[in-house]
Amino acid sequence: MKALASSVLKRLADGSFHSGEALARAHEVSRASVWHAVRELEAMGLGIYKVRGRGYRLPQPLTLLDRAAVERHLGTNAGRFAIDVRNEVASTNAVLLEHAAAGAPGGTVLAAEWQTGGRGRLGRAWHAGVGEALTFSLLWRFARGAGALSGLSLAVGVALARALEAEGAQAVGLKWPNDVLWRGRKLCGILTELAGDALGPTAAVVGIGINVRLSDATRDRIGQPAADLESACGAAPDRNRLLARVLIELHRALDSFAQSGFEPLRAEWQRYHVHRDCRVTLTFPDGTRQSGRARGVTEDGSFLLETRAGLKRYHSGEISLRSAATTNRQD
Ligand code: ATP
Repeated sequence: MKALASSVLKRLADGSFHSGEALARAHEVSRASVWHAVRELEAMGLGIYKVRGRGYRLPQPLTLLDRAAVERHLGTNAGRFAIDVRNEVASTNAVLLEHAAAGAPGGTVLAAEWQTGGRGRLGRAWHAGVGEALTFSLLWRFARGAGALSGLSLAVGVALARALEAEGAQAVGLKWPNDVLWRGRKLCGILTELAGDALGPTAAVVGIGINVRLSDATRDRIGQPAADLESACGAAPDRNRLLARVLIELHRALDSFAQSGFEPLRAEWQRYHVHRDCRVTLTFPDGTRQSGRARGVTEDGSFLLETRAGLKRYHSGEISLRSAATTNRQD
């Protein structure tokens, strides 16, 4: 996002009309430059009303991400995190992995208004227009090796479910291994990436995307049913307060995970499990599938599937899960 577009966005964020002339004057640029900045913002997914004689306006006010505001909401927890907010990055996970390699401490947070290459698992894309979502990554350092960190994505899911319920979201559910759903539709994605030696220590970068208020254009791009907090909570929450709340819950869950692994969080995960006792199909990287009945997760976060050949356990890795029935228990 160019500096002018960023600055125009800050003015439009109040939801009022701003004339092209006033914006041009305020930034000491031409009206054509303002028009280009508005086009740039539209290309990032922002809906902007243009009314002849009145100017430009957002459909509703937008609270932009602001480090000081997040720290205020964190209160006494603020000292646990080092927060960086950027207008635009390729992928918060990719940048934070670089910072981790350069020695950034655990608790480092990178949040972005706009990701040009937001990532999901298996090279999939994460879509969100400016202001539509909360996208950020958190670096956490573990003394143990990656092998001891299975179940980490599930622990993150529990933290997210707690935070979203505290924000007022009803009927939040978890889909193995790492999605947060609302009424069967994806509300948040989690991408956990690890760096370090097999025996430890390990740097974990936990990337999170939470849909706050999705536009129709973004929904069309997503390719699967998506939900947002505006629907789940009845109103779109303040993203700075939301980030603070999620960070506090992540801190609690990751501290517990570092000490005792996934087991203490397992029962809670299972309470949120949207496919509990439902028929599901797992798809493996080679395209083969296995259907059965979902029987929860193990102490290390593996998935338990009851098949004709008995109970089998699957590690998350590169497996995708789909409901075998047309609806699931959240519908
Ligand atoms: P799946 O959710 O398909 O089982 P996954 O958990 O591996 O697989 P992720 O890697 O977490 O998926 O996320 C990438 C997928 O999420 C994309 O392929 C797309 O279908 C979906 N997606 C992308 N952006 C959004 C969004 N803003 N909200 C909901 N879903 C999204």
